[in-house]
Amino acid sequence: MGIQTPFKHKIWLSSPTMHGEEMQYIKEAYDTNWMSTVGENPNTIEKTIGTDLGNQHAVALSAGTAAIHMAVKLAGVKQGDKVFCSDMTFAATVNPVVYEGGMPVFIDTEHDTWKMDPIALENAFQIYPDIKVVVVAHLYGVPAKIDEIKAICDKHKAILIEDAAESLGATYKGKPTGSFGDYNIISFNGNKIITGSSGGMLLTKDLVAADKVHKWSIKSREAAPWYQHEELGYNYRMSNIIAWVVRGQYPHLHEHIAQKKAIYDRYQEGFKDLPVIMNPFSQADAEPNYWLSCMLIHPEAMGKQVRDEHQSLSLNEPEKSTPTQILEALTQLNSEGRPIWKPMHLQPIYRMNPFITRQGEGHAQTNAYIDEGKPLDVGADLFNRGLCLPSDNKMTEEEQAIIMDTVKDCFN
Ligand SMILES: *Cc1c(COP(=O)(O)O)cnc(C)c1O
Repeated sequence: MGIQTPFKHKIWLSSPTMHGEEMQYIKEAYDTNWMSTVGENPNTIEKTIGTDLGNQHAVALSAGTAAIHMAVKLAGVKQGDKVFCSDMTFAATVNPVVYEGGMPVFIDTEHDTWKMDPIALENAFQIYPDIKVVVVAHLYGVPAKIDEIKAICDKHKAILIEDAAESLGATYKGKPTGSFGDYNIISFNGNKIITGSSGGMLLTKDLVAADKVHKWSIKSREAAPWYQHEELGYNYRMSNIIAWVVRGQYPHLHEHIAQKKAIYDRYQEGFKDLPVIMNPFSQADAEPNYWLSCMLIHPEAMGKQVRDEHQSLSLNEPEKSTPTQILEALTQLNSEGRPIWKPMHLQPIYRMNPFITRQGEGHAQTNAYIDEGKPLDVGADLFNRGLCLPSDNKMTEEEQAIIMDTVKDCFN
C-alpha cells in the first residue's frame, strides 16, 4: 500500500459540527442585545436538558469544570478530605477536589469498560472507610458500570458525583448517564458530542442544591438593593450566547451519536483481522454515545515503546506496532489521533496521591507488565497500549478507509 498522500483538510479527533440554526440564534441574541449572562436561554436549556436527563434540576454554567467544582462543594468536601476519583480520566474530573482543599484518591480502571473498577472501589472503602464522596467519569462516551458503583456508594453512605462530560446521550440499562449520581455534570466544550463553544451544566434531583449552585454561580448575591454577600461567590454562569448555541445544537445530539456510532462500527469491522480491540463495553447494559473511537493493541503485537514525561519513542518491528508508531503515521496523513488519556496516578502533579487497584493499595508507576496479560496497574497498561482514533463526525467513509489502511500498514 505504501505511503498515502496526506489529506488536504485535517481530520480531527472531534471538532464542532454546526448546523446553521446556531448562527440564527446568535444573531437573534445580538439583534435583541441579550449579550450577557442574563437572559432566557440558559433557563430554557436547563428545562429541556434537565427533563431529558431523568427529570433533574439543571444549572447552566460556564464550563463542565465549573460544574464539577460546584458538585464538589455541594458534596461538602473540605480541607484535607480524601475523595475517591476515576484514575483514567481528564484532569478536570479531579482538579476541583483540590480547589476545595481535598485530596483525590485514585481508583484503578477495569478492562471491561476502561472505567472505574467497582472491585477496586470496594477495596478502597475497606482501606479508607471514612471517605464519603466518589467522582466517576464516563470516558470516551462509554458508561462505567454505574449501578454497581452506585450500589457500593449507597452501602458506604457516600455521595456519588457523575462526570458525564464526554457521555451526553449515552445510556446504562436504558437510563441516561448523568442521571445516576447525587450531583451530575455535562460539558459543552468545543470537542464534545455537542458544543456551545464552551459551557457546562450541573444536574441534580435536589432542588435546594440546584438553587444553591445557581446563587453561587452568580457571585452569591443576596436579595437586597445593594451588593449584599453572605457566602463566597463565583462567576460561573453560562452566557446567553453560549446557551443559544447549545439550543441550536441540542436537537442534533442523536444525529451526532448515529454518525459517531457509524465511525466506531467501521473501525471495528475494518480492524477485525488486526491484533487489536476497540474500546469495549457491555452490549447488554450500555449504549455509548461513541464520542471517541479508541483501539488497544494486544500485548503480543506490541512493539517496543518507551516514554518519558514528554516524549515517546518506538521501535518498528515486523507484525507489531505501538501507539507511538500509529500516532506518527496518523500525523503524517494530516489526521489527529491521541494517546489514551494519561492516568492521574502517573501525572507528576498527582503521583504522591494514593492509588487503589484490585489488589489493594497500588504504587504510582507500577510496571504495566506483571503476570502475563494481567497487569497490576490497568490504567498504565491501557495508556501504554491504547490510542484514540480520528472520530470526527464530518470524516467521510473514504477518508476513514484511508486512515484504516494507514493503521493496518503499521502492523506489516
Ligand atoms: C471536557 C471534560 C471535562 C471538563 O469540561 P469543560 O467544559 O471543558 O470544563 C470534565 N471531565 C471530562 C471527562 C471531560 O472530558
